[in-house]
Amino acid sequence: MNYTITTPLYYVNDKAHLGSTYTTIASDAFARYQRLEGNNVTFITGVDEHGQKIQRTAYGLGISPRDHCDMISQQYKQLWDKWGISNDRFVRTTSNQHKELVHVFFNRVNNSGDIYLGQQQGWYCVGCEEYKETDPGIKDPFCSLHKNNLEWRDEVNLFFKLSKFQKEIEILIDTPGFIQPTSRKNEICNFVSQGLKDFSISRIDVPWGIPVPGYQGHTFYVWFDALVGYLSALVGDKCISELEELHDLGWPASVHIIGKDILRFHAVYWPAMLISAGLKLPKRVFGHGFLTREGQKMGKSLGNVLDPNQLLDEFGTDAIRWYLLKDIQFGNDGDFQNKRFHDLVNNDLANTIGNLLNRTISMSRKWFSDKVPPFSPIEKMSNSLELCALKKISLFRKSIDQLEFHIASQAILDLAINANGYLNEKAPWKLMKDINNLEVVANDLYSVLETCRIIGLLLNPILPELSNRILVQLSCEDDLNSWSDNLNWGMLISGKNLPIPTPVIHKIESY
Ligand SMILES: [Zn+2]
Repeated sequence: MNYTITTPLYYVNDKAHLGSTYTTIASDAFARYQRLEGNNVTFITGVDEHGQKIQRTAYGLGISPRDHCDMISQQYKQLWDKWGISNDRFVRTTSNQHKELVHVFFNRVNNSGDIYLGQQQGWYCVGCEEYKETDPGIKDPFCSLHKNNLEWRDEVNLFFKLSKFQKEIEILIDTPGFIQPTSRKNEICNFVSQGLKDFSISRIDVPWGIPVPGYQGHTFYVWFDALVGYLSALVGDKCISELEELHDLGWPASVHIIGKDILRFHAVYWPAMLISAGLKLPKRVFGHGFLTREGQKMGKSLGNVLDPNQLLDEFGTDAIRWYLLKDIQFGNDGDFQNKRFHDLVNNDLANTIGNLLNRTISMSRKWFSDKVPPFSPIEKMSNSLELCALKKISLFRKSIDQLEFHIASQAILDLAINANGYLNEKAPWKLMKDINNLEVVANDLYSVLETCRIIGLLLNPILPELSNRILVQLSCEDDLNSWSDNLNWGMLISGKNLPIPTPVIHKIESY
């Protein structure tokens, strides 16, 4: 099955921050999972490069907007490489292919009669790239978000007839599962129920943008440019003559994963544009929450911004991914707490999972000549670890499919906690004092190693690096090739060599 997953196209006004890294990591985990389940995944990310804000930032730095965009886009690409993000496409809205597609898309919408010229008047924030509602009594209104004065605009813009799609959008947003998490659905329903207003899709005097065909001096405004990027990502460098060909290239998106601040544009504006252009609609839109640090909003002025590059250099991908995916309920806001981060990585990953693997391999090597112990099928029926694995595998799949990474991660951890308990209860080191217990010990160790193998497999979408190290330690790295089949209990082959164990993850020392 074709499965298209997108992150937002990040605005290249500045380098990537932890928020965009968070979205991208979550999308990556989801893409990896869908691939393991055998889907034909196209995972799209990229950058949104046009607009007045970027133009001003570039000139402020004394460089051309093109050079500025090249530089920041390159930084994004390098950052995602460094994090091991498995995106299949990286789209830039300054590419020629994108520009062509925006034109084709615009012409379709225009031919549907959904574009008109109108007057746009009001106070504008360049930082937000939007008109602001202001109190008429205030002389010098300013943006509460950007703390800068608003600029008065009075210009002719092109408008998209969003109001025409009221009924269709009402039906769409009411479709179960379209907006996730469901807690965010209400806010969109309220917005739509107030009546949809047409929105402007062009600006004049913003040369750093895609020109609107047939309208001299107009360039496309943010959303009519950036959202179409999802389509141009699918087209790539192919040539398409009709937009419908996108339906063979992976459209519609199975899910748009975005931050909650741009949910409205993805769940309302974008679908209406797609209906007008005669294209299919995305199947779901997931709006996740924001990150704070030690309970405080992160901001340059506060000097408390976490730099994803630095975090990665200091702690590695596994640690950060575990914290973000396991500790924060995807969809809700989350808080990055240093102490909790250390505790979680050390307890969950190093102690509960890492030590379990290490000590079980050591015992197996010691008593079964460096090999996976034999397993006698008589015991198989009553194995509590097998029952636990079956339950947790099913919970893992169900929850990750709903982007509930915290539940999926907890299911893996529970497997490890259960196996540690099993090992302590059976105490093979005591049983081995009597050689007659060898067969029982073999079965116990086999069962724990088999649990570790399943932990390694399940961890793959969440922590790909740790997963690989666990599977290599068990000589099972090939199991990833048919992931689904290998999730069956008992696939670990007795008599296989077990290499000398080394710690699969190190504790983080200080904070
Ligand atoms: Zn603003």
